[in-house]
Amino acid sequence: MPVASIVVCGGSVVGSAAALMLARDGHCVTVLEADPGGPPSGPARVWTSWDRRGVPQFRQAHNLLPRFWRVLEAELPEVIGRLLESGCVWMDALTPMPPGITDRAPRPGDDRFRYMAGRRPVIEAAFSAAAQEEPGVTVRRGVRVAGLLVGAGPSQGTPHVAGVRTADGEEIRADLVVDAMGRRTPSSDWLEGIGARRPWTEGEVGGFVYHTRYFSGPDLPIRRGAPFTPMGTFSLLTIPGDNGTWSVTVVSSRKDAPFRALRDPGTFTRLVRACPAHAQWVAGTPITEVLTMAGILDRRRRFVVGGRPVTTGFAAVGDAVACTDPTAGRGLSLGLVNARLLRDAVRKHVDDPATFPEALDEATEQSLTPYYRDQVSTDQARIAEMDALRQGVEPRSPDTAMARFEAAAFSDPDVFRALLETATCLASPADVLARPELQARLDQVGPVEAPRIPDPDRERLLRLLAE
Ligand SMILES: Cc1cc2nc3c(=O)[nH]c(=O)nc-3n(C[C@H](O)[C@H](O)[C@H](O)COP(=O)(O)OP(=O)(O)OC[C@H]3O[C@@H](n4cnc5c(N)ncnc54)[C@H](O)[C@@H]3O)c2cc1C
Repeated sequence: MPVASIVVCGGSVVGSAAALMLARDGHCVTVLEADPGGPPSGPARVWTSWDRRGVPQFRQAHNLLPRFWRVLEAELPEVIGRLLESGCVWMDALTPMPPGITDRAPRPGDDRFRYMAGRRPVIEAAFSAAAQEEPGVTVRRGVRVAGLLVGAGPSQGTPHVAGVRTADGEEIRADLVVDAMGRRTPSSDWLEGIGARRPWTEGEVGGFVYHTRYFSGPDLPIRRGAPFTPMGTFSLLTIPGDNGTWSVTVVSSRKDAPFRALRDPGTFTRLVRACPAHAQWVAGTPITEVLTMAGILDRRRRFVVGGRPVTTGFAAVGDAVACTDPTAGRGLSLGLVNARLLRDAVRKHVDDPATFPEALDEATEQSLTPYYRDQVSTDQARIAEMDALRQGVEPRSPDTAMARFEAAAFSDPDVFRALLETATCLASPADVLARPELQARLDQVGPVEAPRIPDPDRERLLRLLAE
């Protein structure tokens, strides 16, 4: 395989992972990261002192799904070793099973549901250190990419990206430029700037607001439900971290003004304490204020438009390709899958830049777009439900195959595992629902109503928020 010089713009988790995978195929990779400082040593300092202005969600709750770890085990297993040294811990997404499941015997393949808990900065520090130490990767921090260089390419009429220009005016030539600049990437404008057609883009600002607080304590709180629990006009997200830490997030609708009161830590604690299955999660020692984030974009881009690539010599990965509201915590898992798709496309098409964009587009459509669509429609349905309940209207109960599937998972061990595969991105909901054995199982279980998780009713909720 010919060796390529590759510039990766953005050195966060997905940029670093892509750089590592490409370098291991022998390519010469330079990572340009706008933020100046690398990770300090030790998880405590990484958490308190690593300044990552380029990643606004840096200290928001991050759940890393089993799919993330399966890709890591296959491609970059030594990063897992670094994470264990940093105090990250293995967990099992199968526990606890819903109380309605009585058959708790293990099944072959259950280990696919293992995942590791760690706070996002600690996870990112391990990727950064691995990239920094990788012989084929040069990481340059404090270098902001400001535009693309154009050069002679393989296809007439299609501009070819031949490198990047930094904010300091340096020109860095490359065979391939990879955009890993996250959800605020400016690269669509840059591509237009070199005469390319604009990448196809769909998306809008999502409707959720995240209010997160981190805690620590000698023991992780006992889990009495799924990490993500919808509760009327809000949802609760409880995520274990490294070194005896965990996060609690209240997710509200951005149209629901009374939830603004959650910025006050006392109000935040009062609300979570009023949820009997979750109160134990705020019993630890708080290690942050309530961190609020909103205005998160759902966006997907394609670089092949009307059957033709908008450019050659260019690719994007991670949030720069597709990002959604993170209620299901899929971003980094799908970002790693995306990094591997990029590596595979480079492997097959490195000496043929004209066919590379279509190959990567096709692989992305097959492997990632189903999750994007599923996430957007799930989020829209949940926002509609929250808004209806806020207005005192009984929301229409969804009579869909997915709703029946979700309800049956509360009592059937195999349906539960199938649902967990979709929730952890091991398989897409459409693929799982198409399995004949699952359909047979669902017919056997028959109609079931999902059990209700105790939550404060709207009147009490408003009182709690106003106190
Ligand atoms: C509130 C919230 C909660 C989330 N929770 C989860 C979760 O539970 N699980 C999960 O998997 N995902 C979660 N996500 C999504 C996850 O954070 C993203 O999917 C992930 O960070 C994407 O990684 P990335 O490397 O593509 O981009 P980013 O992490 O956004 O990194 C982009 C990098 O590019 C750099 N950069 C930007 N512009 C330039 C430039 N011009 N030149 C050089 N460098 C540049 C930035 O400094 C940054 O380092 C959450 C997101 C949000 C907003």
